[in-house]
Amino acid sequence: MKKKLFAVLLAVLLVSTCLFAQSVYEVKHEEPSALPEAGAVVNGFKVVEVRDFDMLGAKIYQFEHIKTKATVLYIANEDTNRFFDIAFRTPAEEDTGVPHVFEHSTLSGSEKYPSKELSFNLRYQTYNTYMNATTYPTFTIYPVGSLSEDQLLALADFYTDSVLHPMVLEDKSIFDTEAWRYVLKNPDDDLTIAGTVYSEMRGAYNRKIKAERNFLGVLFLGSRAGNEYGGNPDRIPDLQWDDLKVYHAKYYHPSNTLSIIYGKLERWSEFLGLLDSYFSAYDYMEMDLRDYGYLPRNGSVTSEFDYPAEAGSDTTYAATVKYGFICGDADIETMNVVSAICDLAQDGSSVLMENLYDAMPYGNFTCSKDFSGPELVIEFTADNVRPEDDALFRSIVDSSMAQIAAEGFDPEAVDTFAASEMIDALLIGDRTDKGVSVMSNITNYWAGTGELYGFLDYLDSSSSYRSWNEDGTFKDVITRYVVYNPCWALVTTKSVAGLQEEKDAALASRLAEIKASMSSEEIEAIVAATNNPPETNPDTAAMVRKLQVVGVESLPEEYRTYDIEDTTGADGIRRLWAKTDVTDVGYAGIMLDASGLRQDQIHYFKLWTSLIGELDTTSHTRAELSNLRSRYHYDGAVKISVLEDKVSGEMTPRLRFSFTALDEDMSRAFDLMHELLFDNIYDADRIRDKVSNIRIALRQSLSRADQILPLYRAFSTAEESNAYWNYASYIDYYYFIESISELLETEPETVVSALKEIADYFNNSTNGIILFAGNRESRDNFMKIADAFMASLENRPIVRQEYDLNVADSSEAIILENNINYNVIFAPSSVLGYERASGDMTALSAIVQDMYLMPELRDRRGAYGAYIYVEDEGIYSYTYRDPNIADSYAVYDGLADFMENIRIDQETLNGYILATYSRLAIGSGELSGASDALANAVRHEDQTVVLDKMRSLKTMKAESFAQTYGPLFRKLVDNYRYYTTGNASAISKVADSFSTVLDPFGGR
Ligand SMILES: [Zn+2]
Repeated sequence: MKKKLFAVLLAVLLVSTCLFAQSVYEVKHEEPSALPEAGAVVNGFKVVEVRDFDMLGAKIYQFEHIKTKATVLYIANEDTNRFFDIAFRTPAEEDTGVPHVFEHSTLSGSEKYPSKELSFNLRYQTYNTYMNATTYPTFTIYPVGSLSEDQLLALADFYTDSVLHPMVLEDKSIFDTEAWRYVLKNPDDDLTIAGTVYSEMRGAYNRKIKAERNFLGVLFLGSRAGNEYGGNPDRIPDLQWDDLKVYHAKYYHPSNTLSIIYGKLERWSEFLGLLDSYFSAYDYMEMDLRDYGYLPRNGSVTSEFDYPAEAGSDTTYAATVKYGFICGDADIETMNVVSAICDLAQDGSSVLMENLYDAMPYGNFTCSKDFSGPELVIEFTADNVRPEDDALFRSIVDSSMAQIAAEGFDPEAVDTFAASEMIDALLIGDRTDKGVSVMSNITNYWAGTGELYGFLDYLDSSSSYRSWNEDGTFKDVITRYVVYNPCWALVTTKSVAGLQEEKDAALASRLAEIKASMSSEEIEAIVAATNNPPETNPDTAAMVRKLQVVGVESLPEEYRTYDIEDTTGADGIRRLWAKTDVTDVGYAGIMLDASGLRQDQIHYFKLWTSLIGELDTTSHTRAELSNLRSRYHYDGAVKISVLEDKVSGEMTPRLRFSFTALDEDMSRAFDLMHELLFDNIYDADRIRDKVSNIRIALRQSLSRADQILPLYRAFSTAEESNAYWNYASYIDYYYFIESISELLETEPETVVSALKEIADYFNNSTNGIILFAGNRESRDNFMKIADAFMASLENRPIVRQEYDLNVADSSEAIILENNINYNVIFAPSSVLGYERASGDMTALSAIVQDMYLMPELRDRRGAYGAYIYVEDEGIYSYTYRDPNIADSYAVYDGLADFMENIRIDQETLNGYILATYSRLAIGSGELSGASDALANAVRHEDQTVVLDKMRSLKTMKAESFAQTYGPLFRKLVDNYRYYTTGNASAISKVADSFSTVLDPFGGR
């Protein structure tokens, strides 16, 4: 069941900077002072409305700028992870990605802050918890967060100047870096294209994203909704610098903004003053956001599109079908009813989902609303189906929705929804990113529907689900907008093997033609631009200093640690309780020892965990189980956990089952867990369907695994626990799934009995661990129930098995169906000569990223990102969506020289210390922090590690920097293992540099 407050908007395009998960531990303070009444005037703004926002314990003050009518909301509550954002409505007029290129370009320097590097520098060198920007279909948002109000105010000035007066309007080189440019290292090379957004979209663009554009383009004929707001990589090179200037003048105007300030702010009126100082220079502008090309349709339409795939790829289940209805005259209340219908219809227990999965067990199905186009849409999606399934899909949606229109939703499913909303509300304080999440959601409704409080109304509507189901509202809306709605579109987007090569060849010949038409001067100019680094702004350091408000000396040494009770009873069961400050609810987990499984059972173990909840049990059908799991296992997870004990160094694989539940539901939650683990009916047909589903999904995720697959292959070479995880989860597991797909055809009973063996194996409490986070009262209730669960299991000795697992070679190139590459290096700490990564090493990675990797790999060579981490396990670095391979390794090879020759003064170093410190200090939410602390306690990891890191950060000295870290990086460069993924043609050019070339899906 989805969590409404954190409903992530749509399939989102990635952002200009790749951020960490962030959060803050709440500290209680008194009320902010002297907040205004409606009608008051403050710093050029008048207060239009004051309203409550109970779920966040907040009041919302709505201001309107008197001169430009710009809207500002102040969401005032006690949250100390404070945020500011400014957002603009930014329709995608073309497919060239203007809004997205702008999102990148605005944070590349401004009138007041004329430096391209500044925004990344600030992210790494100020006391912030969040700095980012994101493009959505109808708006672009620029949010920033800090634990310090003063720091937030300074960064708000940087953000506001950047969006209103960006340097890109004067400086074309920013456009070249962020959008696209021609690349030629030598005059004789083939001409290619690079650019941050270009690389990003080459990596991000996939069939699902394209299918959404195809669908909206067909449904809303002539509308902008069919344009790719992130930029279709085929079209990005059509974008010109002048297009950006025109776009900025049209949309980046105060009258087109919504700004939000959030959290516990004493100086809220100064934020208004700051905005007024920028906005006052403008006059009010009537915004024209009409979608002129749109031709509303009266009837229905069916259409089909091809999507390029590589030759030889399996395209059997490689279509995305979208079926949707225009709800032309729906008002805001109806929109909330439609949202509710989508929530309930796409729950696993609904008639619709049951019928779809029965008919197409290989597919994935969703139901959602979309208001990014000119009218509201109810949209049903089938992914990973056969292209010829479109008619079947449509007929099942029609008949199932007609059935729901006649009978209503199952009242139990509606109750379940209400219950999970209640846990959401109880845990709201646990979310530390709530400020930025709420800001984005409010802005989404404002930009998409014109309703400033549309998101709040949507949140409130949860309480109406029961009555809407009982009084016939759901039935009426479904009847009107689905069953008898003549305005629909059925749009299929299918992968076609071999099209990718055709497309690549067409691009190559187009570029060859362009090059042939160039004069030698033009070619020389491109070579020079390619080989000469963009100059850096010498004054950036001074600007950073000016914007650093919090100093190292004033950093508070605060970090949330938990009292953990860790006892092992006479029954051999280990019980861990993290005492937390929540009421009526707790995090529950059990771990069962898997170290007695034979090596040939590891993949069956993994498969078995994937089947949990997907099979009928002796008491319930799958659909019923889906409802029960939503009801009783909030955030439920069943997975393999492989932890290495920090004291003994021993690796133990375990089964981990965890969830969050209300105290009053704990007993039923455990009964349900018992049923899911031990009462399954292993029906061979059902398993065959599920395995086929897993096979498709796994291949897809491995093909687009980003850096994860090469990273885990790298890690597998150093640590037993990672070797286990790599073996259980990735390529070896895929081969296993392929082999049992065949086995299920010929001798299904072999697979069935192997799975039953796994279930029987885990009916054993030996070495069992019970985990709980909650208050004392909840704990007392919980432990009785958990003890009874463990006592109900058998108690057999476990004979620990020795494993001989496949591990990766010391360098590997892995061929995948990617349009873009990922380049990984890794050296274990044992090779590098340290045991624990201290706090200074965390700042070290920020420095290397900010001063060396990003400028070299992102700014100069067109990779979307480049990251480095110094951990207990070792040092690893990877490029993200990288157009290059060999070049990137040359940059990695320069790491040692960079570090040996680095010149850094204490002031600059302090900046890095601040940013790193702030991200350590913020911790997690109360309950999620406690569950992390429990996981660490299981492996005897000390909670004070973070505090030690914070302390060691403060002791870093600039004068000894190069001597301290130079040798470490020399060792890294001399010893790293390296792993690359890319498509066949990219890998073929560099194959000789790798000891192994893997082609996991080749010819399959
Ligand atoms: Zn981006």
